[in-house]
Amino acid sequence: MKKKLQNNCMNEFDPNALDELDAIKHIVSSVKSTIRKEMISTRGSLGRIVANDISSSLDIPNFRNSAMDGYAINLRLLKLNKYILTLKGVSLAGKPYIKRLEKNETIKVMTGSVIPDNSDAIIMKEMVDIIDDKIYFPKNIEKNQNIRQIGEDIKKKDIVIKKGEIINHTHLGILSSLGISKISVIIKPIISFFSTGDELISIDKKLKKGMIYDSNRYILYGLLKNLPVIIKDMGVVKDNEKALIKKLDQCSKLSDVIITTGGVSVGDADYIKSALKKLGKISFWKIAIKPGRPLAYGKINKSYFFGLPGNPVSAVVTFQLFVLAAIEKYIGINERKYICIKAITKNNLSKKKGRVEYKRGHLVQDSKNNTVSISGLQGSNIMTSLSKANCYIRLEANISEVKKGDEVNVIPFNIKI
Ligand code: AMP
Ligand code: MG
Repeated sequence: MKKKLQNNCMNEFDPNALDELDAIKHIVSSVKSTIRKEMISTRGSLGRIVANDISSSLDIPNFRNSAMDGYAINLRLLKLNKYILTLKGVSLAGKPYIKRLEKNETIKVMTGSVIPDNSDAIIMKEMVDIIDDKIYFPKNIEKNQNIRQIGEDIKKKDIVIKKGEIINHTHLGILSSLGISKISVIIKPIISFFSTGDELISIDKKLKKGMIYDSNRYILYGLLKNLPVIIKDMGVVKDNEKALIKKLDQCSKLSDVIITTGGVSVGDADYIKSALKKLGKISFWKIAIKPGRPLAYGKINKSYFFGLPGNPVSAVVTFQLFVLAAIEKYIGINERKYICIKAITKNNLSKKKGRVEYKRGHLVQDSKNNTVSISGLQGSNIMTSLSKANCYIRLEANISEVKKGDEVNVIPFNIKI
């Protein structure tokens, strides 16, 4: 009987490599969202995830007011008027004029000021001539022009921020405009990470031959820092099964998510797999992507575990594709989609069929079109091309080459909706 091949790193055959999108789907669907919530001040909620829909207890605007500095009029009281009005008063923002307009009267109004109950148009200051207390105004005035109506921005009971949104500066504006001083957000989960490898040394130590400085912990710090999570840097662990077990066990006791880099491949010093087998339920995947083929995913006690590849660029790409999707699900962020745009490649690009490739690129947009060039060497150890890149060029699995001048899919960095 033919033995069924498993999708794991031991497989030599790419046809068994797991499809990238299937892997993301599998991970996302296996992660259960946390429901831990806390009340915090509106200002302190910047960057946090809203735990419940937030609805308005007010109309915004709360009163009819002027959108311009100008003059308030009532069209019906102007019937036989020769476009001359008498100035009766002024309404300032915060200091309203409360009387109604009488025939042929106007009052001066400032942006945001209360307008008389029976006014139905505001004439811009720049459109009128003023002689003594007479205001000469133009024809062609439209009903409701330059008036901000009650509730035109937000109506009472409207949901203004949905559960799962990340609070940004505009949300802070909306919340404060509604007089909301506290909101319920998701408690920050704890994410711990460590690097593995006998060759790694800390950046404050002297470099010896054959050793390298550990950059992945700094990369992960950078990737996690702006998320609403608590980061625990657990250092470096040697390529040693016992030491790995000890550290993983420690991490699982204090964190919701554990991320490691290195040791997930099939090298002689790749001990993550054997350590994990003894600790939890972990699958080892060979994913049909470049960079970042090997990935370990599963659970150790209650913590989700991600074993990322050791090469820094692979660690970044696998973090962005798989770990971020899982963290977002865990903390309940509403699903966001990466923006993918078309661009003309300025290079001939080649790749192996059967896997999706993310090339580091530099996208330029001008009035005519988008063009993209690769930003340097594409090895998964080459960090400089990632630092020069402002996008990934995503080449589908079934493609083996793209010619200069062809259209490619590009995912710009830092744009997510
Ligand atoms: P591994 O996945 O452990 O086989 O490592 C693959 C490559 O990534 C090797 O060249 C490692 O030296 C390198 N590497 C692993 N971990 C790190 C790290 N934390 N910082 C920089 N390079 C690393
Ligand atoms: Mg290693």
